[in-house]
Amino acid sequence: MKNSLIILSGPSGVGKGTIIERLLSRGGFALSVSCTTRSPRKGETDGVSYFFISKEKFNEMLENGGFLEHSRHFENYYGTPRKFVEEKLKTDNVILEIEVDGALQVKNAYPEALLIMVLPPDRAELKARLIKRGSESEEQIGERLARLDYELSKRDSYDFVVINDDLEKTVKDIENIIKARN
Ligand code: 5GP
Repeated sequence: MKNSLIILSGPSGVGKGTIIERLLSRGGFALSVSCTTRSPRKGETDGVSYFFISKEKFNEMLENGGFLEHSRHFENYYGTPRKFVEEKLKTDNVILEIEVDGALQVKNAYPEALLIMVLPPDRAELKARLIKRGSESEEQIGERLARLDYELSKRDSYDFVVINDDLEKTVKDIENIIKARN
C-alpha cells in the first residue's frame, strides 16, 4: 500500500487544526511542519507548529531547493520542507496544511496528491470562529474573510470540498476519502 500525500486547505479558523489532530491520533499519519517567516502566536511552539525562521534563512532554503512548495500569504512566507515530507512518506501518509497556491504547486509536482478543501458552512460562521480564537485584529479578520473569496475561486482544482458544519462528521468524511484512495 502506497502512502498518500494529503493536502488540507481552507480559510484560517475553519477547524483544520482540530481535524488534523484527530487524524494524527488514529495513527498512520504524519504532519508536515512548515517553515514560516511570521511570528509565533500565543501557544505556538517552534518545531511543532512551524519552524519560525528569518526571511534570510527562508531565501537560503528556497535557493537551495529545500521547499516542495512555497508561497506568500499576508506579508509572510510559508514553505514545505521537501526532505521532511519525502522521508515521512516512506512510513506514513503525510498531511500538508497549506494554502491554495502552494497546494496547486504540489499537485503539479505530485499529480497523485490528494487535495481536500475544508470550508465553513458560511461566512458569518467563519467570522465568529476567528473572533473566538482571538489571535487576529479586526483588520486581520477582514483580510482573512476577503481571502476566503480567493480560496473559493480555486475550489474546482481540488479533489474534494468538505463543509465543516459538524466536526465528527467532517473527520469521518475525510477519513473515508483517504481510505478510498489508499
Ligand atoms: P497561519 O499563519 O494562519 O498559520 O497560516 C496562514 C495560511 O498559510 C494558512 O492557510 C495555512 O494553511 C498556510 N500555510 C501554512 N504552512 C504553509 C506552507 O508550508 N505552504 C503554504 N503554501 N501555505 C502554508
